[in-house]
Amino acid sequence: MQFIPDFKPASGEQASALWFIFNKGKLLIKIKNDIITVPNTSDLSENNLTPDRFQYLGTLDGHACYAAEFVDSPLDANDYKFKDLRSIFGLMEEDLIWIAGRANQLVDWSRTHQYCGACGHLTEEKTDERAKICPQCGVVNYPRLSPAVIVAVVKGKQILLARNKRFKLPFYSVLAGFVEPGETLEECVQREILEEVGITVKNIRYFGSQPWPFPNSLMIAFVADYADGEISCDGSEIIEAAWFSKDKLPQIPPKISIARQLIDEFTGR
Ligand SMILES: [Zn+2]
Repeated sequence: MQFIPDFKPASGEQASALWFIFNKGKLLIKIKNDIITVPNTSDLSENNLTPDRFQYLGTLDGHACYAAEFVDSPLDANDYKFKDLRSIFGLMEEDLIWIAGRANQLVDWSRTHQYCGACGHLTEEKTDERAKICPQCGVVNYPRLSPAVIVAVVKGKQILLARNKRFKLPFYSVLAGFVEPGETLEECVQREILEEVGITVKNIRYFGSQPWPFPNSLMIAFVADYADGEISCDGSEIIEAAWFSKDKLPQIPPKISIARQLIDEFTGR
């Protein structure tokens, strides 16, 4: 499957256009013959559904894709449900999941930038790029991304894994944290690890990146070597942390996440 992003739709209505519609952060999915997908334009008109605040995303194998939201969820049908994106990892085709993630970020941005942050006037869509402009004072807002680092800390044949207070499932993962203004990614790695578990690291090297649309992060992944200190959890965010060897791993995050890719790289899987 090939997704080509764009912000301006080509002319002409497409019955096969795909709709990534959100309500309170949940995606509208269509379930047919046990296959989970998203509704197309015909599905919407058959069900008399008119989404609010839609934005063009681009094309997937030639099919136009739109992000939109239902401000009031009007839907109560067996074949259609609103689902948390994370709960359909592995159940819906991965290309659709990532487009849904992109849609979720844009829907969230559009909803939270209806008014100018400087003067309070209603904003308008810019016509030449994906942005909102204030017709009163000219402030331009682009879709907001919040970069975060995610780090596998390695000590010989062991990896540092921790339990975060916010995890809904009882798994252990690598450490992560948001980048602060004025900070380099490497400084952020040092600071987050020291704050969360009280140790220092060295030899920080880039691993890869992944959009994490909950609602607007970009995860930038690193591997680092343990340098000094004893593990001491901050207690507010990290409630448990320990060194684990390859053959004695606790429950770890699902395959789709870059956290898991970092752990798999360490274990050689
Ligand atoms: Zn303004």
